[in-house]
Amino acid sequence: MSMTRRTLLAAAPAASAAGLGGGPAAAQSPAPPPALHRYAVGEVAVTALHEGMAARPLDASFVRNAPFEAVQAALERAFLPKDQLPITFTPLLLTLGGRRVLIDTGFADNGPPTTGGALRALAALGIEPGQIDAVVISHFHPDHILGLRRKDGSLAYPNAQVLVPEAEAAFWMDESRMANPPDPLKPTVGAVRRAFEPKDIRVERYAWGKEVLPGLTALDARGHTPGHTAFLLESGGHRLMALSDVTNHPALFVRNPDWSAVFDMDADQARATRHAMLGMAAAERVAVAFYHAPFPAAGHIAKAGEGYEFVPLQWGVNPA
Ligand SMILES: [Zn+2]
Repeated sequence: MSMTRRTLLAAAPAASAAGLGGGPAAAQSPAPPPALHRYAVGEVAVTALHEGMAARPLDASFVRNAPFEAVQAALERAFLPKDQLPITFTPLLLTLGGRRVLIDTGFADNGPPTTGGALRALAALGIEPGQIDAVVISHFHPDHILGLRRKDGSLAYPNAQVLVPEAEAAFWMDESRMANPPDPLKPTVGAVRRAFEPKDIRVERYAWGKEVLPGLTALDARGHTPGHTAFLLESGGHRLMALSDVTNHPALFVRNPDWSAVFDMDADQARATRHAMLGMAAAERVAVAFYHAPFPAAGHIAKAGEGYEFVPLQWGVNPA
């Protein structure tokens, strides 16, 4: 069927009536079809899995240290709505030395109806959850760990070893903090309890500055959370930095690395980490992957004025 401008325009009111029109977040219907994008880093196959997205309502509290008008101007410059931020979630599947490895999980079936895509993308690849050998976790925020289990509490990846940052585990699994957390920490503490307390999970802690798995080195990226971790993937002279939540949406926080999102637990430390990592990626022209960039959430970082610019990869062209 050919879609002329006229048929598109004619179709718009019907889409609105069905609740599918309107703002960009609404344009995504619940349970989107599986989406993935594969690229290579040397011998390693990297597959970005489209877990889905959620729209975060925006007000002056979202960026703590910038006027809301400046935040809205940055959104307008990126052709995004000014009252809500579409936040994407992108776990990575690595085929690393014959093992299937996930970096972060998304929500499985525990999230908003517009999420859960990673499991569908794996199914589209013909990969059963039981065939995932390891899950490497960057930090313990719910959008990264809730998908370790399904709604019924069973393990989403029953045969996977789960590798977690030592510093993150030390903070969130501290008995006294777990017993009586301050309000802002409660959702994460709840997610940590749910994921890690049942004894059926095989958890191992990893340290910064070392290989978590061959070719995958954990980088100290603290600030967003106390144990927040980024990764350097190296194979055959090719490199990719998986930046996890060093920034939230690039249109705001790559462009303006000094801005602090409400999610950053230690704003000053997170800012220092952001500058160090974006600066290194730009200077060394290392390919990057984000968790919260528009899909497929990988590309490069270029210096641009006071900040940086995220240059998305071109489909079909390896970024690394
Ligand atoms: Zn996150």
